[in-house]
Amino acid sequence: MTRPPPKLISDHLPRALVKDAFHFSGGKISNADRRGCTWPARSTNNFHLGTTYLTLPTHASKLKEEYQSMAETQIEWTDATWNPVAGCTIVTAGCTNCYAMQMALRLEAMGVPKYVGLTRKSGVRAIWNGVVREDRASLQIPYGWRKPRKIFVNSMSDLFHESVSEDFIVDVWRVMRETPHHSYQILTKRPARMADIVSRAIPDVLPNVWLGASVENAAVVSRIDDLRVVPSAIRFISFEPLIGSVGAVDLTGIHWAIVGGESGHSARPIREEWVDEIYTQCDSFKTAFFFKQWGTWGKDNKKRSKKANGREYRGRTWNEMPATLEA
Ligand code: SF4
Repeated sequence: MTRPPPKLISDHLPRALVKDAFHFSGGKISNADRRGCTWPARSTNNFHLGTTYLTLPTHASKLKEEYQSMAETQIEWTDATWNPVAGCTIVTAGCTNCYAMQMALRLEAMGVPKYVGLTRKSGVRAIWNGVVREDRASLQIPYGWRKPRKIFVNSMSDLFHESVSEDFIVDVWRVMRETPHHSYQILTKRPARMADIVSRAIPDVLPNVWLGASVENAAVVSRIDDLRVVPSAIRFISFEPLIGSVGAVDLTGIHWAIVGGESGHSARPIREEWVDEIYTQCDSFKTAFFFKQWGTWGKDNKKRSKKANGREYRGRTWNEMPATLEA
């Protein structure tokens, strides 16, 4: 048994909230692991973050939910999220309703240190204030996940934000290199910086790392050209939130496309013809097509719940993945 290294806990959770914690070796928790711990074995407020097992007091249930929803994501095309960076700044129209800004404010209100001081209030909304935080302690997390996972890197930020140091990005690559049982999906709205750093500072193309760029409308299709030159085993485009036609695009060298409409109270509508345009081009470039959701606006241009609008397109669901993974 190893007693908990509090570093991991204090960097992620308010220490005052953690009643007890210990490290386990992965798999089943043994009696030796929990020797000396006071937590009730079946408390609903027990959960683990990597191989650190935590017990929170009853009033912290909400915090547990937030953490679980971040680690065990609902995002259809991945298994888990990992956030080595917190905070960002808005770059283009696709960022307007950025979910991470609102989530950062909620986590700050709950006292999670990593997310304190990253946003400012604008009416009822939170807006990034430009503070970007590298979270070195979180670099340990993937080592603790024994079961292979598809991991979305930085759902709460952009790894290639101009304030993230090159050294830190190289360290993220080291973690991905040392945990080849996982696949990592890195999505950026700054693919020019991604291309520069990956080509210059990363010596190898890792088979378990997928690199992607977000394209929300025709104004930013040049991101596809930036992505195309990045050395990568798998390159993907996320056309989400799709808020305009993207027009004719060159998908040469792009292995996978995800398409989805925006969700939430202020969501902007998606149009079926914009999806058709992408679908047809994926077909001709042999790019795998994944239709994630219609979002808050249905293909009939009516607003309803994301769940009610569903994720069927042309009468079926589209869950294609890059060819190398299907083989
Ligand atoms: S780049 Fe991503 S994380 Fe940053 S503001 Fe835009 S949507 Fe949010």
